[in-house]
Amino acid sequence: MTKRAPRGALAEESVRGVSLSRCRRCPRLAAFRDEIKARHPDYSCRPVPAFGDQRARLIIVGLAPGLHGANATGRPFTGDYAGILLYETLHRLGLANKRQSVAVGDGLVLAGCRITNAVKCVPPANRPTADEIRTCAPYLNAELAGIADGSVIMALGRIAHEAVLRGFAVPLARHKFAHGARHVIGRQVLWDSYHCSRYNTQTKRLTEEMFMAVMSAALREVS
Ligand code: URA
Repeated sequence: MTKRAPRGALAEESVRGVSLSRCRRCPRLAAFRDEIKARHPDYSCRPVPAFGDQRARLIIVGLAPGLHGANATGRPFTGDYAGILLYETLHRLGLANKRQSVAVGDGLVLAGCRITNAVKCVPPANRPTADEIRTCAPYLNAELAGIADGSVIMALGRIAHEAVLRGFAVPLARHKFAHGARHVIGRQVLWDSYHCSRYNTQTKRLTEEMFMAVMSAALREVS
């Protein structure tokens, strides 16, 4: 049974009696975390919980923690290359009090926005398997179940997009992923963006301007 958060707040994720921080349901991911922890004892190497405003109406969903970023620091997109553009953009939009996310305890505060991931543990080669995405889904779903009506969800990449649709039990075929696409999902709106990964930004598949445009459009919808 998935524990639901009060309406308007996101869940303190605990699914079927297992709190997120203690989850080892995916054997490959748990073993990978152990292996990284042995090599980098100073890294968090735990499932990474959501970060930001509990009552946010803009929810950003990424893919999974990066090996030397979120997996090390314990905060989504923190220490990850992908976080550079993300937090800079949130700051420019007035949603973050600082332009950079350095580490837990750095004083960074998000207002009106919350960041989470479709998969909470670092996957080898940044690629969770379909089974791992499914196994982790109840944690994301518990978060989605707690968001207020009229919220806007920004999916960074196709995996996040599909994880959100599954979370709302919406058939994937009805809503195709595309950068800048907008989907009405019951009482929420889902926006898509290419992931702000190093690959996408360095190849200019996603430019700063494109990311600002899609984030601004999503933010304008937050009622
Ligand atoms: N770091 C995260 O926390 N999520 C991503 O999707 C990428 C990097």
